[in-house]
Amino acid sequence: MSAPYVRKALGPGHWAEVEVHDYKQPGSAPFRDVTRQVLFRDPALAAEWRYFEVAPGGHSTLERHQHVHAVMILEGRGMCLVGGSLYAVAPHDLVSIPADTWHQFRADEEVSLGFLCLVNAKRDRPRLPAEEDLAELRRDPEIAAFIRV
Ligand code: MN
Repeated sequence: MSAPYVRKALGPGHWAEVEVHDYKQPGSAPFRDVTRQVLFRDPALAAEWRYFEVAPGGHSTLERHQHVHAVMILEGRGMCLVGGSLYAVAPHDLVSIPADTWHQFRADEEVSLGFLCLVNAKRDRPRLPAEEDLAELRRDPEIAAFIRV
């Protein structure tokens, strides 16, 4: 059994004793200016809670995978692609990302975007779009203008 704890919030998107990591290994996938923090990870729980912060103008990886995400925006403002649709997002918005669904988050140019992401502890690796996937996504001009790869 894990010891109880309270990690005090030190400010928006920062908690005592929670390390701030690179989002992914640099060069492993396309992304820009994203950090990752693991807020909850416990062997007794089959899910993890992570917090991602995308700096102004930055973006997460355009990817898909079999595991699902439940995302809650906590800070800032931005846009996300989920499947074939773009959404403007702001604090307390909930984003459901089903299995095998293309998704990408971008912060606005002037403000960062911080969000919680609930995910299976055991999960498949994200897959990046192939050229034919990009061609399909780019059939929608708004999506073509949005995605970063
Ligand atoms: Mn993902």
